[in-house]
Amino acid sequence: MINNVNHFLEQERTDPHKAEPDSRIKNFNEIYGHFKQHEAESQAARCLDCGNPYCKWQCPVANHIPEWLKLVKSGNIFEAAELSNLTNSLPEICGRVCPQDRLCEGACTLNDDFGAVTIGSIEKYITDEAYSRGWRPSLNINKEMTDYKVAIIGAGPAGLGCADILIRNGIKPVVFDKYPEIGGLLTYGIPPFKLEKSIVRRRRAIMQEMGVDFKLKTEIGKDILFEQLVNDYDAVFLGMGTYKMIDGDLEGADLDGVHQALPYLISNVNRELKGDNDFIDMKNKRVIVLGGGDTAMDCTRTAIRQGAKSVTCVYRKDEASMPGSKKEVANAKEEGIEFMWNLQPLKISRNNNELIISTASTDLKADAIIIAFGFAANPPKWLSDYGVDLDSKSRVIVKDKLEDFAFQTSKENIFAGGDMVRGADLVVTAVFEGREAGKSICKYLKNLIKS
Ligand SMILES: Cc1cc2nc3c(=O)[nH]c(=O)nc-3n(C[C@H](O)[C@H](O)[C@H](O)COP(=O)(O)OP(=O)(O)OC[C@H]3O[C@@H](n4cnc5c(N)ncnc54)[C@H](O)[C@@H]3O)c2cc1C
Ligand code: SF4
Repeated sequence: MINNVNHFLEQERTDPHKAEPDSRIKNFNEIYGHFKQHEAESQAARCLDCGNPYCKWQCPVANHIPEWLKLVKSGNIFEAAELSNLTNSLPEICGRVCPQDRLCEGACTLNDDFGAVTIGSIEKYITDEAYSRGWRPSLNINKEMTDYKVAIIGAGPAGLGCADILIRNGIKPVVFDKYPEIGGLLTYGIPPFKLEKSIVRRRRAIMQEMGVDFKLKTEIGKDILFEQLVNDYDAVFLGMGTYKMIDGDLEGADLDGVHQALPYLISNVNRELKGDNDFIDMKNKRVIVLGGGDTAMDCTRTAIRQGAKSVTCVYRKDEASMPGSKKEVANAKEEGIEFMWNLQPLKISRNNNELIISTASTDLKADAIIIAFGFAANPPKWLSDYGVDLDSKSRVIVKDKLEDFAFQTSKENIFAGGDMVRGADLVVTAVFEGREAGKSICKYLKNLIKS
């Protein structure tokens, strides 16, 4: 074990091996490899244990980061996994997809002068490594299973976070999703080069072993009525995400060859999961992606992997204002994506075989355009018909995280969290809200016992 307090001076920050751009754009595999044990131990040993763990306070789920770094440093991988899985329901996934530069690692004391501790990669390493050595989460904090049953609508990060807390507290969660696989946008949004789908399937197996019941290919409001669900279960959690695509009222957005980001990304995942049916192929095309967030970056990097002739990302503001993860922008640049900043698209038109994007200063030509302007909340009508209150942006209104029953909606037995409450955001914030709602549901059901 490394016990030198100045280790961070001798050992620089190192990320796991990253595949070279030329080779990685030929496939959809994750671009980062795995730490070997000695690498993880040496990177974990860079933590100063500075006493006031800013990293933890900047982590939405308040992970016990210094504590699990210490366990990794001393080779206690099972204990590290147990601790890591206690505060985060999807640690190996957040380790892969969190924008660490503006969360935990951005707050690390070493960040400015020496390079932050590689917190995300170590978080991923802990569960991957422990799982491969046979570790499974312990439920020893659970007492007896109760008779309570809670319905969860949506198997995305929010729903999974809620299910994790409930099962650990002896309450049976039944998770409904209209898709055939769990994960929500983890499966049908985030591309495999950031998160391979086998990782989500492994989490499904872990949760099923824990006792979570998944009822997939079941759409609430269509296959089962919401009223019936509310009647059949002691409480309901809503984690249905935000899926209304914003097109900025751009003229020409409905032309042939112009695609919305999510159907484009889903078609690519579906090709991997179930064959070719609705595949949108960018092979040999000049592709322009409009937008500057993580979704835009995912589209550019998917198109280049499909064999596009060229891929250009057009963003209306400057590079510094791009809202997505800096790491992903850097990865896109390495993979040959061109960037054009400060260009506001005014309209799209077609000239024979070409699409034209008009901006105030220039016209851009493309064979295909992908619009990645983001997502707005679009809860189904049956939700407000039932009396669940929404705000002016159609987000579900819930009690504040500091209130007694955090994430409870205007109906006392219905709770909500994730993107449909906060608007399109992050995996880790959805996990946090699902977990907090799960704790409130436990408290709510405990009160029911008394009455
Ligand atoms: C392309 C893309 C890339 C992203 N990349 C990142 C990233 O790198 N890092 C990051 O932190 N975040 C990223 N995000 C954001 C992140 O994926 C979301 O914030 C997160 O998934 C939200 O979780 P959620 O559980 O609230 O909703 P979702 O993940 O959207 O899950 C909602 C689930 O509810 C189900 N559902 C909805 N209605 C019904 C119904 N009536 N009946 C049954 N099931 C229903 C849906 O099928 C879905 O599975 C990305 C988002 C996109 C679109
Ligand atoms: S969950 Fe995200 S923010 Fe928290 S420690 Fe892990 S990578 Fe960092």
